Amino acid sequence: MEELRRRILQDGRAINEQVLLVDSFLNHQVDVKLMQEIGACFAARFADAGVTRVVTVESSGIAPAAMTALDMGLPMVILKKSASMILSDDTVQTEVFSFTKNAPYQLTLKRRFVHPGDRVLLIDDFLANGAAAFGAIRLIERCGAEVAGIGTVICKAFQPGLARLREAGYRVEPLAEITRMDEGVIEFADDNGV
Ligand code: 5GP
Repeated sequence: MEELRRRILQDGRAINEQVLLVDSFLNHQVDVKLMQEIGACFAARFADAGVTRVVTVESSGIAPAAMTALDMGLPMVILKKSASMILSDDTVQTEVFSFTKNAPYQLTLKRRFVHPGDRVLLIDDFLANGAAAFGAIRLIERCGAEVAGIGTVICKAFQPGLARLREAGYRVEPLAEITRMDEGVIEFADDNGV
């Protein structure tokens, strides 16, 4: 997605080889118009996937996921990054290691929001090691639903998440695929334009 790449180059900041700051348009201040275009782009890419529900991880996935769900006319469900005090048969929970906080957290979902037979499109802001995505997949599949696809706004393809998800058989669509970063340097794969 050309406009997204342009914004990453213009406003993003690689603080080292591993971490990209995009807090002026994606995960602190949010460019809602850009999110709308991102939602339309995911909706087009997954139009053939028979999606029944869009799922995301709080909080930075919510803006792109909401716009995707709006475009597709589907409900959106947010996986909560907190442990449920009342663990019951109605709740599924799994531990995920946070890339940004360098610490584990509990990802939680109530079964009544994802059903057996659902085909879920998982949307998140970043894909790095894949821990958040695999955690979300565990919860979705534990509810008896199927993961129809994974859309990530920015994928750092030099980190292992993308390859691991594809090896596991999941369809992953990144809108911007970064192949290398360093202080002041951001390089993209050639084949991710729309
Ligand atoms: P993973 O679980 O794939 O290692 O990391 C994905 C999660 O970590 C995303 O939901 C995102 O919030 C956060 N994340 C990973 N890499 C970056 C990054 O370079 N910059 C920012 N701002 N967040 C990141």
